[in-house]
Amino acid sequence: MLNLIIFGAPGSGKGTQSELLIKKYGFEHVSTGDLLRSAIKAQSELGKAAKQYIDNGQLVPDALIIGLIESVLEERRPQHGLILDGFPRTIPQAEALEELLAKYNTRVHAVLDLQVGQEELVDRLLKRGQASGRSDDNLETIEKRLAVYHAQTAPLAAYYADKGVHHAIQGSGALEDITARLSQVIDALN
Ligand code: AMP
Repeated sequence: MLNLIIFGAPGSGKGTQSELLIKKYGFEHVSTGDLLRSAIKAQSELGKAAKQYIDNGQLVPDALIIGLIESVLEERRPQHGLILDGFPRTIPQAEALEELLAKYNTRVHAVLDLQVGQEELVDRLLKRGQASGRSDDNLETIEKRLAVYHAQTAPLAAYYADKGVHHAIQGSGALEDITARLSQVIDALN
């Protein structure tokens, strides 16, 4: 089974497209953002440690995120195919992921990089903030998150391109057209 990373800036549609792909292909969804938000609600140690970073638009430290992914992979053995959404976000996270997947004799098969222009990203995130009340979907934090994405996460595109698994996908337009573009890559791998 395939292990995919759905990659892209905040607001690029990673969560939405993950859900559509899961309906179509039955992958397991691993969203570090969702896991962290649940940890905050549950007031766990992880949640308490992560909250200030999330509210400030910063990345949660690698050690916490890598520990989280390690325990998630132990629970849901990556044998049925994973969609990793919002992880990895730094080169050290990507390196740790490679080691963890190697333990299960598997690897990252494709990185699907949803490309959306900056103005559209801000627009989408502000709209999502109005609907969901997410504490980090306000203009100030959105701008910080986009800057963090460009500085710390975007370099992963070249990292995965070097490994021959990076696919740029046009992330604007109708939802079903974006899903179709993603599916084309997945079907070619299957
Ligand atoms: P997301 O829902 O993926 O947009 O994530 C929301 C926030 O959770 C991010 O702005 C980060 O503060 C934190 N977060 C989620 N995933 C990661 C990760 N892989 N590394 C560091 N921080 C993360």
